[in-house]
Amino acid sequence: MTKTRDNNLKGKVWLVGAGPGDVELLTLKAYRILQSAEVVLYDALISKEIMSVLPETAEKIPVGKRAGKHSVPQDKINYILVEKGLTGKNVVRLKGGDPFIFGRGGEELQAIVKAGLDFEVIPGITAASGTSAYAGIPLTHRDYAQGVTFMTGHCQLKSQPIDWNSYANPKNTLVIYMGILNADLIKQGLINAGRNPQTPVAIVSKATTSEQRTFIGTLSELDRLATHSELVMPALMIIGEVVQLADTLNWYHA
Ligand code: SAH
Repeated sequence: MTKTRDNNLKGKVWLVGAGPGDVELLTLKAYRILQSAEVVLYDALISKEIMSVLPETAEKIPVGKRAGKHSVPQDKINYILVEKGLTGKNVVRLKGGDPFIFGRGGEELQAIVKAGLDFEVIPGITAASGTSAYAGIPLTHRDYAQGVTFMTGHCQLKSQPIDWNSYANPKNTLVIYMGILNADLIKQGLINAGRNPQTPVAIVSKATTSEQRTFIGTLSELDRLATHSELVMPALMIIGEVVQLADTLNWYHA
């Protein structure tokens, strides 16, 4: 496969990470590729500011998914991607955060590879990094956490229960994507596995945008925080002792 920086090369599909929201968190590479896009399939999470980087003439296809509301099934997204790729245009699959973190980017790329299309993957700042930075919560810290785990709290938790014991280490930060609707299961699972109910937790909504909000409490309050009337999606949970650092390190005021 030829690797080139020539944007005029035709028939290529770019899987691009758009970052968590703030347009300035796009990479220079993503910015350059967006400007020469001819067809863009984009997620529900992509901000207006980021969409405005695209050429007016680009064909923009919304394929966004939101919990409980699957507007376009994954097979169909893969199909459109391949169909558009075969036209020989500059096709961008624009995904929130990083394409390879809970974004089904891997599945889309498998379809692209199967169709024999040329492609590139452009990483993005994942929601965990954006949230951590803008909420003043370092995900690791020598005094509080020696590791961090990214996990999904998606609805499949009900049908495919997970082994919470592997997430009970008090010296490990947990970052939970798509977990708001399952906050009660997550809280119970972790407490039953031995995680201290007083462990600090943060739920950060619309991180890195001008509407960012942070809700801080303890693990025993996780379900209550998750149903806060002012909590707007998307939102991410951070669970662990590092959350107490937000008190002093929080710098971003939306
Ligand atoms: N690929 C994306 C994640 C897609 S899963 C990434 O790397 O960030 C979608 C989940 O990401 C949401 O349910 C939410 O938990 C989280 N998320 C995405 N953007 C967010 C933001 N700006 N603020 C808070 N959470 C966000």
